[in-house]
Amino acid sequence: GTRGGALAIDALTVGYGGAPVLHGVGFDLAPGEVVALLGANGAGKTTLLRTIAGLVAPASGDIRLDGRDLTALRTEDRARRGLALVPEGQSVVAELTVDENLHLGALWRHRGAARERAVADVYEMFEPLARRRTSAGHQLSGGERQMLALGRALVADPVLLALDEPSLGLAPLVVAHLMSTLRDAASSRGLTVLLAEQNVTSALSIADRGIVLDLGRVVADASAAALAADDTLRHAYLGF
Ligand code: ATP
Repeated sequence: GTRGGALAIDALTVGYGGAPVLHGVGFDLAPGEVVALLGANGAGKTTLLRTIAGLVAPASGDIRLDGRDLTALRTEDRARRGLALVPEGQSVVAELTVDENLHLGALWRHRGAARERAVADVYEMFEPLARRRTSAGHQLSGGERQMLALGRALVADPVLLALDEPSLGLAPLVVAHLMSTLRDAASSRGLTVLLAEQNVTSALSIADRGIVLDLGRVVADASAAALAADDTLRHAYLGF
């Protein structure tokens, strides 16, 4: 669509003081594309997402959103440009209700009627959240909490959504529902999605494309169908 959301990562090298964890990582995401970021534990998926969000500073390389360089911007300024990160761990405020969590996510972005509309749009998209509106975060199931974390990112109308292992700890049926909800949300809003997952099958089932990281390097970047069909690659890097 015309909303934007094109991400260009170029020659990104990132470390935590010791040897780099990411070595010259580069790839492009087209607006509206849903891309799975795959790789074993420790491959560098979380580090890459945190670098994109501005939580970790790269040693070199750059990150562009719709042609504008984000590399020097703080996390909140990246968010203002339309970048949202849903971190690992179903992060919601446990003491606040579903409704309060969603309003919190919309607070900095919208005011008045626009804020209420943004929250209402999320309820419309996520039926289970609408039913749990007055429940506290700690009363939700894992699947509902993950859906709320996703909803809280979406109320701010991002153009690019990065998710870190949303399937972690959820039962297979719950994962399937979450993935299809994510796919529908991305399609209806023209969102670009970068989905880091250990659950390769689930991620590829909704992704257009997949990028495989191994020891901090991109070792494959191909259509979801091509990746799922590549036995050698699956055995070497994806563990199935
Ligand atoms: P996981 O699924 O476990 O999150 P991942 O693919 O997301 O794996 P990262 O979490 O990015 O991988 O970790 C990549 C490497 O960076 C690992 O070797 C890890 O030990 C190291 N690492 C991650 N965070 C830090 C940190 N804060 N300080 C030092 N090293 C770190």
